Amino acid sequence: MVEVSPSGYYILCPHCDNELRINRKYIGQGVSCKFCAGSFRFDLSGPTAKPVAFYSDCAHCQEELRVAIKYLGTKVACKLCNGKIHFVPNSGD
Ligand SMILES: [Zn+2]
Ligand SMILES: [Zn+2]
Repeated sequence: MVEVSPSGYYILCPHCDNELRINRKYIGQGVSCKFCAGSFRFDLSGPTAKPVAFYSDCAHCQEELRVAIKYLGTKVACKLCNGKIHFVPNSGD
């Protein structure tokens, strides 16, 4: 079993509800929406930015996977190579 943390998250903009893809390095920082230019704080535990999914490279086939947020913390099989992956939250979240 390989543990993999999200490379980033898909969240809904609190201003316009469009889906945004944001790298995990912006966690805890202020970001602005590319659709409506509204700014907000990218805080996964806060009420403003709701993550709907995350993305991460498969540890086996190196392909990028988009995974629904409900699978964070669970063990899944890669849909491309069927390799087993344990998705773990980023440390410090
Ligand atoms: Zn927006
Ligand atoms: Zn894979």
